[in-house]
Amino acid sequence: MKYHRLGQTGLLVSRICYGSLTMGPLQRNLSLDEGADLLVHAMELGINFVDTAEIYGTYAYIKEAMRRTQKEFIVASKSYSYTGKMMADSLEKARKELDKDVIDIFLLHEQESLLTVKGHWEAVEYLVKAKAQGKVKAIGLSTHLVKGVEAALNYPELEIIHPIYNYQGLGILDGSIDLMREKLKEAKRMGKGIYAMKPLGGGNLIADAKKAMTWVYNQEDIDAVAVGMQNKAEINTNVAWLLGQTVDAEDSKNLSKQARKLHIEDYCLGCGRCVQRCRHNALTIVNERAVVDSDRCVLCGYCGGVCPDFAIKII
Ligand code: SF4
Ligand code: SF4
Repeated sequence: MKYHRLGQTGLLVSRICYGSLTMGPLQRNLSLDEGADLLVHAMELGINFVDTAEIYGTYAYIKEAMRRTQKEFIVASKSYSYTGKMMADSLEKARKELDKDVIDIFLLHEQESLLTVKGHWEAVEYLVKAKAQGKVKAIGLSTHLVKGVEAALNYPELEIIHPIYNYQGLGILDGSIDLMREKLKEAKRMGKGIYAMKPLGGGNLIADAKKAMTWVYNQEDIDAVAVGMQNKAEINTNVAWLLGQTVDAEDSKNLSKQARKLHIEDYCLGCGRCVQRCRHNALTIVNERAVVDSDRCVLCGYCGGVCPDFAIKII
């Protein structure tokens, strides 16, 4: 495994961060045993960094993997909390459900601009206090926008940036891959830790996965990249590509070549909650049913979390 220091935090993270969203209830909904088994396998290959979030519902898998191995992952979590009280609850929930006294990284989830960061400042102030008390090691934000990265540059408190980043710039809501790269270079120069998300463009680059993963591994400004992996063949393959090794023939055979897609069940009632939740404007209501525009959808699965009827799935 290859490791990078995450900015100036002192954390030595594997360049592959295990993106746990895909195993949880918003996506594959693996059993506790299946999910923990994958995380343990990743840990055995040297992956020591896992990304989660309050809404992902994946704390239990990570806790179980750490229990089985008696080793700790470096865990990054995030929440939408915007007041001090809400953030205190979010952090306590993470500490309790992960059975981890210190959460390594805690982020403001899906920040859009300086304005949204200002709107969440009370929550940041709480995290700064929690950091002084030793409950969290580093603070930052996740974003799908260049403006979100720019916002982090204004605040020394925000040490970690978790941006969407893939070679085609898929899912960047307000600019090009070149603009994003420029801002991330600036962030790196300022000493921010950067771990990217969606290197496969939410599944849309799966047909070109080796090229997409190799591209992001070669970006020296990126300390680590969070990638969702749904079986051991995917884990083995991503590690082999990072290390420049040949992919095992059996893993190649087992690797799912099928692009994933968002599926909306026939029993959707057209309530529109998912439409409001989607920041990528990928959903509309047509004839009283939600319809997805797959060119816009990055398969984040966040819409599934607000559907009262569990009518949205990624398959
Ligand atoms: S939230 Fe669920 S029921 Fe409502 S429109 Fe979306 S898919 Fe349909
Ligand atoms: S439609 Fe759902 S899965 Fe697709 S981008 Fe929007 S919130 Fe994410």
